[in-house]
Amino acid sequence: MGSLDTILHMEYHVRVIEVFSLGNAAFSVRFERPPAFSFLPGQYIVVKTGTGISALTKPLTISSSPSDDYLEVTKSSTGHPFAESLRTLTAGDEFVIRGPFGDFTFQGEYGRVAFIAGGIGITPLWSMILNAAEVLYDTDITLLYSAKTEADVLFHKRMTDIAEKNHHLSIVITLTAPTQGWKGHTGRINRWMIEQEISGWQDRVFFTSGPPGLVNAILAILREMGVPDNHNRFEYFPGY
Ligand SMILES: Cc1cc2nc3c(=O)[nH]c(=O)nc-3n(C[C@H](O)[C@H](O)[C@H](O)COP(=O)(O)OP(=O)(O)OC[C@H]3O[C@@H](n4cnc5c(N)ncnc54)[C@H](O)[C@@H]3O)c2cc1C
Repeated sequence: MGSLDTILHMEYHVRVIEVFSLGNAAFSVRFERPPAFSFLPGQYIVVKTGTGISALTKPLTISSSPSDDYLEVTKSSTGHPFAESLRTLTAGDEFVIRGPFGDFTFQGEYGRVAFIAGGIGITPLWSMILNAAEVLYDTDITLLYSAKTEADVLFHKRMTDIAEKNHHLSIVITLTAPTQGWKGHTGRINRWMIEQEISGWQDRVFFTSGPPGLVNAILAILREMGVPDNHNRFEYFPGY
């Protein structure tokens, strides 16, 4: 009999459907969803590649929607051993997942929310946006998303398509290393950008996700703006 943890968070051997690039910054691994596996948008799994002493294990957010019949994770392309062991998987390969874990989730508990993402921190918010587009038609979401270049903006086309159809979703992107011709915001997310772009921010619950430096900087700004702690949900992606 397994430990309580194993029972509560089942381990599954899953099979790759496909691995595809999302520009230079990241790639996605789509894999078969075990029939018994359910999760909430924003949750993560622990992914193990390899076996024995060459096994590598890291937490990764599920970047697909709970309504999809497959599961997906999106990994930043760091070139490091774990990233490479995932990137080089091909259809039919097996790996192990455990989960789901985490309480950085959103399924319509608040009518008006603000999502703030830095780089790969978009993954839990993307799952929430996909879910909201499918089932939470009236939830008002503004996403403020910081990436390096336009090519590094993950899920850009799908995001824009959803925002065009759903007027309750607004997307604002800022680039820290914009290429010539970019007409949107530039530089890191700052107080002015939040106040300017997130209408009615006083009434929204904030969900912030990204590398610890970015999350801490945003939390400091939100506190300075007077956003109460119980309107501040956040997820750290350590390891950057
Ligand atoms: C709840 C949660 C959810 C997460 N979700 C995601 C997600 O959806 N997508 C995602 O990509 N990540 C996610 N992460 C982060 C993820 O778990 C990894 O930590 C991260 O992706 C980096 O992994 P890596 O193997 O590519 O790099 P690592 O090998 O862990 O390297 C990380 C850093 O260490 C440095 N480094 C590594 N090896 C060396 C060395 N030998 N000498 C010096 N420096 C070194 C690298 O330069 C890099 O800056 C999540 C983390 C948490 C906690």
